[in-house]
Amino acid sequence: MPTETVWLFDLDNTLHDCSRHIFQRIDRNMADLMMRWLNLDRARADALRLAYWKRYGATAAGLELHHGIAAADFIAAAHDFDVRGLVHAEPGLSRKLALLPGRKILLTNAPERYARAVLRELKITQHFELIWTIDHMHLQGRLRCKPSKAMLRQLLARLRVPAHRVVLVDDTFANLRSAKAVGMRTMLCHHPGTPHNARHHGRSAYVDRRIKSIADLLNGRQRYPLA
Ligand SMILES: [Mg+2]
Repeated sequence: MPTETVWLFDLDNTLHDCSRHIFQRIDRNMADLMMRWLNLDRARADALRLAYWKRYGATAAGLELHHGIAAADFIAAAHDFDVRGLVHAEPGLSRKLALLPGRKILLTNAPERYARAVLRELKITQHFELIWTIDHMHLQGRLRCKPSKAMLRQLLARLRVPAHRVVLVDDTFANLRSAKAVGMRTMLCHHPGTPHNARHHGRSAYVDRRIKSIADLLNGRQRYPLA
């Protein structure tokens, strides 16, 4: 149906809560890899990891650009652990997604293998017509992950939908800002554990709506889908 809403769902700290185990695990793995591969001490590795995350949306993008490390190799290595037992989400998530009308796409800066493992743990894989991960986010030979506007435009072209039919649900302000800039609707899935969000106080012009859970999307159904 051409008037259908297309939902782009972020994964980490949007569809599940990473703050209990998974983020610590990924951050530690990334710092360990950077210590080994770049010959850094832990403090320097941690500082560089955060600096690239803030500047490029993913630590891997900075490593690829400045150190010639293949982003895919770094990301795959950092996410190479068993997620079983580590995934936490709101109850009834699959039922809530089923009740939400519209097409659903997963859009994550995580690698595909990890994303699929988390979706499997959450038992929600079947709701997504497309799983778009960092493995798919190369444009002209360069990694373009969220918050890249070029990547979002490429995804819109692939989905063949006008931007105003698309809603990005994400916990990271920078990603929502880019989505708004290319004409999408935006929903902030507020998570207190998301790094660097604390400095964004009050309302932001590029956030159409704030939600605390996926259940909130159903409560607002009168306003969405978007006419
Ligand atoms: Mg996230």
